Amino acid sequence: MDHFNYQGGELCAEDVPLARIAAEVGTPVYVYSTATLSRHFNLFREALAWTDHLICYAVKANSNLAVLKLLGAMGAGMDVVSGGEYARARAAGVPGERIVFSGVGKTRGEMAQAIQGGIRQFNIESEPEMQALSEVAAGQGAVVPVAVRVNPDVDARTHAKIATGKSENKFGIPIARAREVYAEAARLPGLRVVGIDMHIGSQLTDLDPYRQAYSKMAQLCRTLRADGHAIMRLDMGGGLGIPYRRDNAAPPLPIEYGQVIRETVGDLGCEIEIEPGRNIVGNAGVLLASVIHTKRGEGRDFLILDAAMNDLIRPAMYDAHHDIVPVREPAVGAEVAPVDVVGPVCETGDTFARGVQLPPLGDGELVAFRSAGAYGAVMASEYNSRPLVPEVLVAGDRFAVIRPRPSIDEMLGRDRIPDWL
Ligand SMILES: *Cc1c(COP(=O)(O)O)cnc(C)c1O
Repeated sequence: MDHFNYQGGELCAEDVPLARIAAEVGTPVYVYSTATLSRHFNLFREALAWTDHLICYAVKANSNLAVLKLLGAMGAGMDVVSGGEYARARAAGVPGERIVFSGVGKTRGEMAQAIQGGIRQFNIESEPEMQALSEVAAGQGAVVPVAVRVNPDVDARTHAKIATGKSENKFGIPIARAREVYAEAARLPGLRVVGIDMHIGSQLTDLDPYRQAYSKMAQLCRTLRADGHAIMRLDMGGGLGIPYRRDNAAPPLPIEYGQVIRETVGDLGCEIEIEPGRNIVGNAGVLLASVIHTKRGEGRDFLILDAAMNDLIRPAMYDAHHDIVPVREPAVGAEVAPVDVVGPVCETGDTFARGVQLPPLGDGELVAFRSAGAYGAVMASEYNSRPLVPEVLVAGDRFAVIRPRPSIDEMLGRDRIPDWL
């Protein structure tokens, strides 16, 4: 459920007509709903109400400081994968004790930054990384809490580019080697083993892979405890999918996901950490765009928008689907015709969707891409020297620009011409 609905014939974000935002901020622009963000965060809270837990929002899904501040103020922890994300979480007021550091290639600089700033836990992804973390921590006279990311070798049944829990993926250490690696972690100075971590992929629409992975985790927890490790936390990762198509069967709900966690690891007395990203922000955002014009092609028509692949890369990168809807509500029984919805970038990949059934839309009319709050703005670029897409946050009948569109002068001003030119 989200808070983008037609009211009085116009698509609104909560109580703000999207047309008003377009008029004041221009398009393309991302628009987020506070009510949807908080609602989704609360659903996870309810799903884990049966146990001690920390919901570590995956910052990479949407890292705008306003979004982080909103979630942090509700009690969220954060899952970060870079020094930049760590700095964002701290700047949004999230204390280090609520920040988990994941990622396959943490540099020594990033490790030192997080240790100095305060950190809840490092999720270690390999033995060389474990060695490096031990040296950095011991060098600072620190002892840092660690979990090892274990790759359970289960098929998450999602798009290949976002599956992470198969043995051929670059993530984590193979589960068969876990005992050895934990033994080494316990020996190394500067590290304190506190938990086990897994993250098997993104946009999962089936609970079965979770059940398989978490059962393996429960087994491993018992084994590691028998080996003498004080496993007190289980980090279950993120990945729960969202409905991208309104007409499809909806993926499992957070409450059902929480039930799987309870059934598989609930009897171990561990604090539970989860790292949802997409499920919290995905349906809390839309990308608002204007029609530049319709181009009549041979056998097909192209609806050319002022948004492009540099603003929302998911269709080009993952063949992702976003529902595209007119902002002015079509009359009941209005005629629709298929159009290919494209952006102005000079690549054929700059195609959002083919054969979308839309009513006729005049130049300047607005459309919204639904479910664009996650992996949208964060993946945007300035390709084709198109200004980085701005972001707006709505709360009730208010809205604020939470990242302005840079001017062309600002963009040009970032480059430097060497003095020999
Ligand atoms: C990307 C990622 C997440 C979040 O995934 P979602 O599908 O957005 O929930 C959580 N944990 C780790 C380690 C990740 O890499």
